[in-house]
Amino acid sequence: MVEEQLIPRGIQDKRVLQTFLKVERHRFVPAEAREKAYGDYPLPIGEKQTISQPYMVALMTECLQLRGTERILEIGTGSGYQSAILAELAKEVYTIERHALLAEPAHRLLREMGYKNISFKVGDGTLGWPEQAPFDRIIITAATAEVPDPLSKQLTDDGLIVAPIGELFSQTLTVFHKDHGQLRGESFTSCVFVPLIGKFGLQH
Ligand code: SAM
Repeated sequence: MVEEQLIPRGIQDKRVLQTFLKVERHRFVPAEAREKAYGDYPLPIGEKQTISQPYMVALMTECLQLRGTERILEIGTGSGYQSAILAELAKEVYTIERHALLAEPAHRLLREMGYKNISFKVGDGTLGWPEQAPFDRIIITAATAEVPDPLSKQLTDDGLIVAPIGELFSQTLTVFHKDHGQLRGESFTSCVFVPLIGKFGLQH
């Protein structure tokens, strides 16, 4: 996966590549899909949701420019794979999932794997996690027309948000930098994510 998918497509951050070698992706996919765990595509994880394609997880992670000191908010825990990658590369991860049926097994697995720097919440991630704000980085792993207002407010100045911005079935991976209270976005690549569903999401 690292040699055939991530490096040839331009993922360069050595810490990111090392982490993809370390975190066992097959532990995060349902038993019946385990032999496809390292394939170059997203996989279903139940509740009509997906674990994202490895390259997309790597690109979003690289875009966050992590050095190990950051507090990150993740919207969309899903399988917990992206949370594990982030927990390896940053100081603290706060992750929110709206489906309790996905959140619970992900929490259990990440605890079993020994991650102590991940905090979990079940609920509407478009509202953020005001009690734990501010965050240095925010990653939204579901499609949204724009960055939900509560999330931009919960980002530190000079912080980054990575999100798929667009409409249902067609988005652009976008990185926002907060500068003097204003978000400025830079577009990366086209992508397709499941919708962000919530008060400030693509669908309410
Ligand atoms: N990061 C995940 C992983 O590594 O498996 C993949 C996430 S999946 C592409 C998107 C997730 O976002 C789904 O699990 C979905 O239920 C969740 N989601 C959608 N809207 C949400 C919201 N408002 N708050 C929290 N989670 C949400």
